[in-house]
Amino acid sequence: MAYDYDLFTIGAGSGGVRASRIAATHGAKVGIAESFRAGGTCVIRGCVPKKFLVYAAHVHEDMEDAAGYGWTVPELTHSWPDLIAAKDKEIDRLEGIYHGLLGNAGVTEYTGRATIVDEHTVEVNGEKITAEKILVATGGWPVLPEAVPGRELAITSNEALDLKERPKRVIIAGGGYIAVEFAGIFNGLGSEVTIVIRGDKILRGFDEDIRDGLTTAIKDKGIKIHTGHIITEIKERGEELDVTLADGTEMTVDAVMYAIGRTPNTKNLGLENVGVELTANGAIKVDEWSQTNVPSIYAVGDVTDRIALTPVAIQEGHALADTLYGNRPRKMDHANVASAVFSQPPIGSVGLTEAEARKEYGAIDVYRSSFRPMKYTLSGRQEKSIMKLLVDRATDKVVGAHMLGPDAPEIVQGIGIAVKMGATKADFDATVGIHPTAAEEFVTMRTPLPDPEQVQAAD
Ligand code: NDP
Repeated sequence: MAYDYDLFTIGAGSGGVRASRIAATHGAKVGIAESFRAGGTCVIRGCVPKKFLVYAAHVHEDMEDAAGYGWTVPELTHSWPDLIAAKDKEIDRLEGIYHGLLGNAGVTEYTGRATIVDEHTVEVNGEKITAEKILVATGGWPVLPEAVPGRELAITSNEALDLKERPKRVIIAGGGYIAVEFAGIFNGLGSEVTIVIRGDKILRGFDEDIRDGLTTAIKDKGIKIHTGHIITEIKERGEELDVTLADGTEMTVDAVMYAIGRTPNTKNLGLENVGVELTANGAIKVDEWSQTNVPSIYAVGDVTDRIALTPVAIQEGHALADTLYGNRPRKMDHANVASAVFSQPPIGSVGLTEAEARKEYGAIDVYRSSFRPMKYTLSGRQEKSIMKLLVDRATDKVVGAHMLGPDAPEIVQGIGIAVKMGATKADFDATVGIHPTAAEEFVTMRTPLPDPEQVQAAD
């Protein structure tokens, strides 16, 4: 049977675009549908615009530090609308590049919401289109709490990037990536920020030293962290919002932002028409080849809820296109994926946390360095950087590397190569440092911390 396309992709975000254009480059006839804007979450309302705002917010500290280097710094003012306009202009340019990438590869674009009709048919704007294979790459969406009165008054990261005005006082609910990144953005630009978390610490899943280090750093910048309670009610009063927490605390703010996780976009896609299996949290279940239980249907990226990061979606999409159309079957390797949190200061991380490494390997050596970055010595800033290496004692392999501090994401990207290659501590030791840098600490830490069990025994 002749199909309209070899591959039809639903969703022109990072994973969908990469899979489509590589498939087309390999000679496949490819169509792609997008209901919003090409580029998806990362380019349009995620990583990219967020990073511009992170840069903007950090200028404030750079200016403060400049005085320590002899500069006379004038009184600073900031225009949020100018920042948002500049960001929007760049996002428009990038969206154009994404259309260009698809067009140049010969992929046919459809603007509209696609739904799956049967194993080989999708419908876009009333038009039925057939394809030998269908790829679902519809990403995720910010979660709102289920039963909090007034939750419709709150914003998520989607709206936070497009606000007309910067809220002077903002509550951010949640303590994950998005919460701490936006806390740093709003704080750096001059807002009063309160993070409200149900647990006792931000960034669950990260190394404890990094969590504690970031907590100290952001509290020193004036960000408040309210632990152990959720928001129970949000009420509108004129331009302001009255917010009540579970412990009875009341606060009046200009905005409430929820950053309590993201959910895979699997609703109203017609997946049930063909019986595509979902996981308990509504993600599309795929095997290691990104294939669903329906042989003609594949899925990559956040909609599969494996590791919700853009570069992972891109690699999953690329691997799929190579496998299906490039005569090069390969699976995405999800081990030791380095990642960053663009908090202020930022975090870079690869491999296991200390707790995970202890659990998995038992005997490990922990190397930790905490220092004031050289850049801050003249400016007087007290902020500390932290670096950690976790080493499996039996094999000498570095199984985790973590950093909190300026340029941590840039530094840990390189460390990520070493960890992925299975470098040992001896390999790190044999590497000559670049002096004077913060990064050189990663190759100059020589003495492990005392083993907690031995310390306990000695006590
Ligand atoms: P995360 O999963 O990182 O964090 C969710 C936070 O919300 C946690 O602090 C969690 O608390 C809390 N939470 C969850 N449910 C509730 C609830 N019902 N009530 C109150 N608090 C709740 O989610 P994000 O939204 O920050 O980010 C989503 C994903 O996007 C990330 O996992 C990441 O993969 C990706 N991302 C990556 C970025 C990067 O690479 N720099 C940047 C932004 C996003 P608890 O700890 O108690 O569970």
